[in-house]
Amino acid sequence: AHLVNQIAAGEVIERPASVVKELLENSIDAGSTRIELSLEGGGVELIRISDDGCGMTAEQLPLAVTSHATSKLPDDESLFHVGTLGFRGEALASIASVSQMTIRSRAEGQDGGCQIDIRGGVIETPGPCGCPVGTVIEVRNLFFNTPVRRKFLKTPQTERGHIVEAFTRLALANPKVHFVLRNGDKEMFDLLPTPRWADRIESFFGTEISEALIPIENQDETVQITGYACDPSVSRGNNRMQYLFLNGRHIRDRALQHALGEAYRGMLMVGRHPVCFLRMRMPADMIDVNVHPAKLEVRFTDSGRVYSRLLQTLRQRFLSTDM
Ligand code: ADP
Ligand code: MG
Repeated sequence: AHLVNQIAAGEVIERPASVVKELLENSIDAGSTRIELSLEGGGVELIRISDDGCGMTAEQLPLAVTSHATSKLPDDESLFHVGTLGFRGEALASIASVSQMTIRSRAEGQDGGCQIDIRGGVIETPGPCGCPVGTVIEVRNLFFNTPVRRKFLKTPQTERGHIVEAFTRLALANPKVHFVLRNGDKEMFDLLPTPRWADRIESFFGTEISEALIPIENQDETVQITGYACDPSVSRGNNRMQYLFLNGRHIRDRALQHALGEAYRGMLMVGRHPVCFLRMRMPADMIDVNVHPAKLEVRFTDSGRVYSRLLQTLRQRFLSTDM
């Protein structure tokens, strides 16, 4: 069983940033209002997350690290219908199989908490512990028992960069949640909850970006697009600052990136890419999801429509803006 989980882990858990993404998603799914993340050694030595979400009971805790045990059963095959980010019940078991993990958790309405230690997938006897409602998970020594994979990790700085990107995507998608990120004894981010998306964007990218935000709002019968396109003056040499969210999930999509480029055509110099923060909502039955465990690939059943919708929306907006 441990080997099976280790193999599964190879697909889901590539590097510390994959651990961070899964843990953050779980904390968000748990309804947390405050999530704190701490790193040591680029996340290879330690990833620690603490949240004030719904927590787990002593009975739930061992199940949570068991493969295919999920408390989030989707009502149909499309994960874009469900209100939670998790769906496979695989992540915690996979992470636990390739690390030394400690979980302390206390569910709402329980008098005390419960602790469990897992070493390379082997669960040690759970016991009671004192802790507030919510969950603390520590992941130490990632890939300690899979040396080949450990060898493929890059420098702590590079791994930390990937973690910050995963953190950025989830914190941008959830502006009403308070997020803290610490690296060693240095606090990198302390993001207060806000109803204004522009505030969250500013706390990551500063006033250079927030002052260039052009609000976008458009809705037809099926597709809703809200958020911001940026003034061409803050273009970039790559397309990494095009943040697209589909039904609350971060996505990267070649065709939509192309549509963004087209929308700015004539406004940017060759080789420059626009900066955008756009949230799209559409019915889940218009989205096909190729559920590769590690990356979420989406395909639109009517991709031409989504493409032209995005292009038109931005074009119309630019026409009505003096830029
Ligand atoms: P999934 O998210 O797909 O359900 P995971 O392996 O990520 O699978 O998590 C397994 C289960 O553990 C979740 O379904 C949830 O019940 C529980 N869980 C994990 N993290 C937390 C957390 N931070 N707070 C409360 N419950 C959690
Ligand atoms: Mg999960």
